[in-house]
Amino acid sequence: KLHNELVDLKGNIRVYCRVRPHATPSTRLGPDGASLALAADGREHAFAYDKVFGPDSSQEAVFGSVSELVQSALDGFHVCIFSYGQTGAGKTHTMQGGDAQAARGIIPRAVEKILSTARKLEEQAEWSYSMEASFIEIYNNQLRDLLGGTSGPSSYINDLHAIKHDPDGGHTIVAGVSKVPVTDADGAAALCRKAAAARAVEATAMNRVSSRSHSVFMLYITGYHAGSGTRLQGCLCLVDLAGSERLDRSLAEGQAKKEACAINASLSSLGDVFAALSSKSSHVPYRNSKLTYLLQPCLGGSGKTLMFVNINPEPASAGESLCSLRFAAKVS
Ligand code: ADP
Ligand code: MG
Repeated sequence: KLHNELVDLKGNIRVYCRVRPHATPSTRLGPDGASLALAADGREHAFAYDKVFGPDSSQEAVFGSVSELVQSALDGFHVCIFSYGQTGAGKTHTMQGGDAQAARGIIPRAVEKILSTARKLEEQAEWSYSMEASFIEIYNNQLRDLLGGTSGPSSYINDLHAIKHDPDGGHTIVAGVSKVPVTDADGAAALCRKAAAARAVEATAMNRVSSRSHSVFMLYITGYHAGSGTRLQGCLCLVDLAGSERLDRSLAEGQAKKEACAINASLSSLGDVFAALSSKSSHVPYRNSKLTYLLQPCLGGSGKTLMFVNINPEPASAGESLCSLRFAAKVS
């Protein structure tokens, strides 16, 4: 029987682990669908999460496990799903996925589900919905609009006050970042392609690796009930985090070192926010990074957060996997 290696306080943040396929995996999945053991440093390390998905789990099954959470954005909730893990562990596969119907990840499936549920609610009741999307890259603690068609150093936003939260729980505004209307799934897919192209171009132009940046897809939903005049403003944030790997010390010099520190700072600031939330601390350090400040409405208060920890079970990555599993164990 597997037992949790780290006995921690249980918070409100759900954690799902997803192990990608490998021929000779260093992981052993528990029969309960919520635990696994990793072979590292000559012994087995056991962990338990809210769910564990094995290498055979389909994109459809993974989406099925978050579908209700995703749709609660239609009820006015601020919902956030992260993918965390080392480069190559399956974060982008989980969030964006491939082009083939069965390979599609959470972002296209979530948009499709939210649109179809909204259409149903519009037919059944007096609700009407409108939606807008933003796609933001966070690199070296600076924001960039991936749908704005601009690039280069001047397109980075470095002012925390560019992010304005509505104190009444409405939509966040980020000055300098586009919000594009979303009316159908094809339109949303086109936005994702535009964002992916913008990331790739910038990475080449700035001579950097896109695995060192976070990408944040935000869907702002407004529901209006004509009969009662009620307005609901929900938001769904789907975050493909930067690679969690520690940089090889010999590479961590100059610009690369600065990047490594910024990534570490930003991921560790996320860990600090999770730790403060789970210990019910009165001070939650949201303002320590653009990432945590941008996502504050989802992380705290009545927000709903779920984190996928993606694992590459190749034996050579056992050390990194152990780091990721420990980070995830401290979150919930
Ligand atoms: P990351 O974004 O964490 O760097 P990717 O999502 O790009 O990793 O995954 C690396 C490679 O492994 C990709 O070719 C991806 O298609 C593949 N892959 C990842 N997870 C799975 C999975 N669960 N099933 C099949 N292939 C996967
Ligand atoms: Mg990726």
